[in-house]
Parts: sequence; structure tokens; C-alpha cells
Amino acid sequence: MMSQSTNTADLKEFHWLMDLLMTIDVGLIVLDRGHKIQLWNSFMHNHSGLSAHYTKGKTVFEIFPEVEQDWLEHKLGSVFLLKNRSFIIWEQRPYLFKFKNYRPITGTEPYMFQNIVISPLASADGSVNHVCLLVYDVTDIAVGKKSLEKSNHQLEALSRTDRLTALNNRGYWEECLVAEFDRCKRYAAQSSLVMFDIDHFKKVNDTYGHQAGDEVIRMVSQNLRNTIRSTDVAGRYGGEEFGVILTETDAASALVFCERLRKSVEQALVLHEGREIKVTISLGICEMATSIPGHEDWLEKTDQALYLGKKNGRNQANIYRDGGTDEGQAVG
Ligand code: GH3
Ligand code: MG
Ligand code: MG
Repeated sequence: MMSQSTNTADLKEFHWLMDLLMTIDVGLIVLDRGHKIQLWNSFMHNHSGLSAHYTKGKTVFEIFPEVEQDWLEHKLGSVFLLKNRSFIIWEQRPYLFKFKNYRPITGTEPYMFQNIVISPLASADGSVNHVCLLVYDVTDIAVGKKSLEKSNHQLEALSRTDRLTALNNRGYWEECLVAEFDRCKRYAAQSSLVMFDIDHFKKVNDTYGHQAGDEVIRMVSQNLRNTIRSTDVAGRYGGEEFGVILTETDAASALVFCERLRKSVEQALVLHEGREIKVTISLGICEMATSIPGHEDWLEKTDQALYLGKKNGRNQANIYRDGGTDEGQAVG
């Protein structure tokens, strides 16, 4: 009598438990060794549109033909064999079961992101003949993390970019300069540094106004962008002063680059409020040498070559050389 009432209580508890598992907001699947579905809760029913009755005895691969069979079989096989849990996380694989995403806030994502835990289910004798798959809907977390990563990425790019010209700003460009200097020192690599400055720029501001000056700076930046290779690093160093790191480039090739840029700026026209503005630039070049002690010295030597050009009439490029600066090509 006594034992019968205990059994009834046990059975009741078991039903509650089953009810709980069936209605919990987590996907629950039990598979046998043949990957046949033995248990399928309402979460799985609701998201797949397939009932427990329909799926019972069918393999997961019949139900979800898009699931990569070899890969999942291997994963399940190791849980059966090692009797250890295994995980599938959304960062590796956004989802195992292709369920539509109906979340109101993260509805922009077409499919549900899932984290999955595969656990061995041991029988009384310790053998594992079934595994249990728990499917967690982590769409909100995944979308949140992805958008945060995107924002961080954008912020990072923004913090490296000059607002007016969209070139690298001084801080980031200098970081690149230090890195390139170190690289050249370590590997005796070839590299040339170019600094240039717009000639008589004050006059542009004074004659046409600051807005016009800004447009001229943008025009020069655009010409610079059009002239460099993808491996070169250009930055706005100051108001109307720019720096370019030309990787794997000797001074003679840097001079060719400078002349191309100088001519393109010389020929360009900025139209501001119906008026035509023309400017020129002066450029300094210094090829990296192992004798240069620090990146500041590299910059300093390049500046010396630039200021020689200013002194000698502007609109020209000059190469720095120890014990004097060779004039590259002076055009009046
Ligand atoms: P030089 O040929 O010797 O270079 O003569 P310069 O007139 O260009 O002389 P300098 O380099 O000293 O003048 C730079 C001027 O650029 C001074 C500053 O008012 C102006 N400037 C700096 N930043 C900006 C900017 O972002 N926009 C505008 N419009 N002007 C700027
Ligand atoms: Mg200037
Ligand atoms: Mg200047």
C-alpha cells in the first residue's frame, strides 16, 4: 500500500518533469546511436513546424538535410565514445538548425543564432546509448555582440582618420612611421619618407577665405590618394602639411612619385564661389638608412629636404643626402 502511493508520487513528479522539459524555452532533442530522434520538445516543434510524433524515429539528417552530416556525426560520435559533453557555439557556426528568427528587436537577422550543448545520457549500467541536444536561442546576444564589434571597428577607424581629408590623422600616421622605421632597422628594408607642404597657403586663406583653404586641402589630399599605391601610408601631418611612407621604395623612385604628385597638384583647379584657385606644393624625400638613429631623425631629415625646396623657390621636390641635400627637380 505504502509503496504504491510512493510510486504514484514518483510518477506524478516524473510527469511534471516531462511537462517542464517539453515546454521549456530551450530546444531539447534526444537521439539514439543511429541518430534517430527519440524526444523532441515543443520548442523544436514550434520552430521547425514538425511535431514530436512526426519526427520520432527519423534521423536528424532526414529532418534537416542542410545539416553537415559528416561533421555532426563526428561530433555525436565523440560524445558517445568519450561520454563527455560537446559544444557548438554561434561564433563557430551561427546555427545548426535553420530556424527563422522571429524576435521583435533582433528581427533584422533572418535566422536564429544557436548555442548547442550535446550531453551523453548514461543508462543504469553506465553505457551511453543516447545523447541529448540542448538548443539555446542566442540571437539577442549574438546580434548585440556583432553590433558592438561593428561599432568598435567604426570607432577605431574614426580615431585614426582625419576629419577634413579622410586621410590617416597625425597620431595614427606617426604610429605607422615608427613601425616602418623599426621594420627597416630590423630587416634592412628599403623605404622612403616624403613630407610636403602647400606653398603660400596663408595667401589662399587670406584671399579666398578659410572655406576655400579647406577645399584646397581636400583637393591636395585627393591627388595624394590618387597617386599612392595601396601599400603606401599617407597622413595629414598638420594644417597643410602631409606625410607619406613609401614602402620598398628608394629615393629615386620616391622622386618619381613626388614629381607625379607635384604636377597633378600644379595642374588641378579648385573652383570656389566662381573663382579658380591654383596651388603648388614643395616636397622633401629621405630614404631610410640604418645610420638614422630614430624615426624623429628620419622625419627631421625629410623636413630639411622640404625646407630646402621652400628656400629655393617652392613647387619642387628634393632628396635629402648626408652632408647636403640634392635637388631633385626644381620647377619654378
Ligand atoms: P609656405 O609656402 O612657406 O608653406 O607658406 P604658407 O603660407 O603655406 O605658410 P604656413 O605653412 O606657415 O601656413 C599654413 C597656414 O595654414 C596657417 C594656417 O592658418 C593655415 N591652416 C592650417 N590648418 C588649416 C585648415 O585646416 N584649414 C585652412 N583653411 N587653413 C589651415
Ligand atoms: Mg605651407
Ligand atoms: Mg605649413
